[in-house]
Amino acid sequence: MTATELASLIRDVPDFPRPGIVFKDVSPLLADGRALHQAVEGLAAFAEPRRPELVLGAEARGFILGGALAYRLGCGFATARKPGKLPWRTVSVEYALEYGVDSLEVHDDAVRPGMRVLVHDDVLATGGTARAKVDLVERLGGVVVGVAFLVELAFLGGRSRLQGYDVCSLVQYP
Ligand code: AMP
Repeated sequence: MTATELASLIRDVPDFPRPGIVFKDVSPLLADGRALHQAVEGLAAFAEPRRPELVLGAEARGFILGGALAYRLGCGFATARKPGKLPWRTVSVEYALEYGVDSLEVHDDAVRPGMRVLVHDDVLATGGTARAKVDLVERLGGVVVGVAFLVELAFLGGRSRLQGYDVCSLVQYP
């Protein structure tokens, strides 16, 4: 299955969640067994040679392929979540949104010093969320071995927030 075929299963939803945003809905891709398999294999092809020990996925769509990818790689999986969702001690990082700020948290024992971590989310947009996760991993002493996305909205320039890291996306919108 090619990137074009994967892209054909990503639905544009105009004006969601706000007017002016074209939301990339990956539900049809996830619902197609062959596409789901291909997406996990595509992410694994990037991740495997980087020998991660942990996949860190962002709330909430980053949990879906992130969990499957961790299983495929034989790695652990950890969640980066919105404030107040995690039950144990956390570290948190604030990051800028288009308007205002948001924050993400991970458990303070999710990443051990020196641990090799692959950061994952479904969509790379402005890069703020991915950058926040990279910062959380490094705050805990982990090593970011790659940052992998299903979709990249290249016109938003999110890669510039991830300079110096190995970034991969399976479907790009130039
Ligand atoms: P970012 O701007 O890269 O920090 O993206 C913020 C979060 O919102 C990420 O978890 C993305 O998955 C999601 N996101 C941002 N823009 C879109 C979009 N146009 N379609 C789908 N998800 C998006």
